[in-house]
Amino acid sequence: MANDLPYLIGWAALAVTVSAVIFRSAYRLGRDAEARYHEKLEEHRESAFYYRGLNYLLSDEQDKAIEEFVKVVRINSETVEIHLSLGNLFRSRGEVGRAIRIHQNIIARPNLTTAHRTSALYELAEDYRQGGFVDRAVEACRQVLSVDPDHSRTLASLLMLHESEGRWDMALQVLQRHKKVTGNQDPRREAHLLLRIGQEQVEGGTPEDEESAIDRYRSAVRIFPGCVEGYRLLGEAQLQHGQTSAAIKSFATLQKTRPTHFFLVVDSLLRAYTDQGDTEGFEKFMVKAVNGPSASTRLISLWSRYLEERERYDEAIDVLRIGTRQHPGAVGVAKQLILMLSRMNRWQEAVGVSQRCLDHQLSRQPVFQCTQCGFKAQDIYWKCPQCHQWDNMEPL
Ligand SMILES: [Zn+2]
Repeated sequence: MANDLPYLIGWAALAVTVSAVIFRSAYRLGRDAEARYHEKLEEHRESAFYYRGLNYLLSDEQDKAIEEFVKVVRINSETVEIHLSLGNLFRSRGEVGRAIRIHQNIIARPNLTTAHRTSALYELAEDYRQGGFVDRAVEACRQVLSVDPDHSRTLASLLMLHESEGRWDMALQVLQRHKKVTGNQDPRREAHLLLRIGQEQVEGGTPEDEESAIDRYRSAVRIFPGCVEGYRLLGEAQLQHGQTSAAIKSFATLQKTRPTHFFLVVDSLLRAYTDQGDTEGFEKFMVKAVNGPSASTRLISLWSRYLEERERYDEAIDVLRIGTRQHPGAVGVAKQLILMLSRMNRWQEAVGVSQRCLDHQLSRQPVFQCTQCGFKAQDIYWKCPQCHQWDNMEPL
């Protein structure tokens, strides 16, 4: 737990805030020498808590530090920041209940500045979100945004919340607002939100719903041209409406924009060509795709299987042979080739493929591992190059 980054950041933020408050109050005490005596005394006492708390923080005695800070019950414009940091610290420790209480306590204060109220509400929303109280988190975010519609961190939180609720249209609205405010683009996320909205619309069942869904799919692939799922859904919808040429065009576009993932739509592409009665067209397309520079091993596998199912064994074997040559590390392709050769009693060749595959695997496999830090290497090092401990490498 203590190694968690947000936790450490929480501590650092608290330490910095406390130092700043102490500095400011010390400065003011010196300046307002004529200020009322009792108020000064009160502030002195609070400063003492802060000093002690800060000292505990710096000496890494975190529980004692928290005790000191909690003693300061008076929240004023100076100490709000400390309470905010303290709440955040509890949240980063996983003590969401305490964080919520602290942040609620800040919000309940009268005479809070708008900026402080907004900060406290945002932190409260984060507490609720981390605690899994989605509805309350959404409500807190909405309150922040009603005061500051461009609060980018709140927009980011609300986006995550709407995603976790599956309220895709609201998530999309927030994403677009966030994009406008921050200038940050997230085309992949935007595309997938559009797809979810489209998929929900399809469930409506009317032709208008389907038309609207197709529009969403089109927007998705326009925003993110590598969107595999977008092209798949678009192509499937077109197939359902008998628009086979349009469907083929959709799948073909995906093959260009994201060739590594094209294998995911091969079944749909085959259906489209089959509907057109043009299996020759499909085969031409596949040969070109399989021989393309970014053809994945999964595509090679699929194409070979297609040929094998049609008893075109020699062609199927050739495809796999080329595949193993181009991707010597592709165990799946090698296995498929070995099995095929075995089924055809071509044992000698099967053994050759197995040997080459194993040789390649062995040539890349580490032989020794450091028991201290996990560093792996093919040669033994008597002094680990990573953790610099002596003689800790064991054979794997
Ligand atoms: Zn090591």
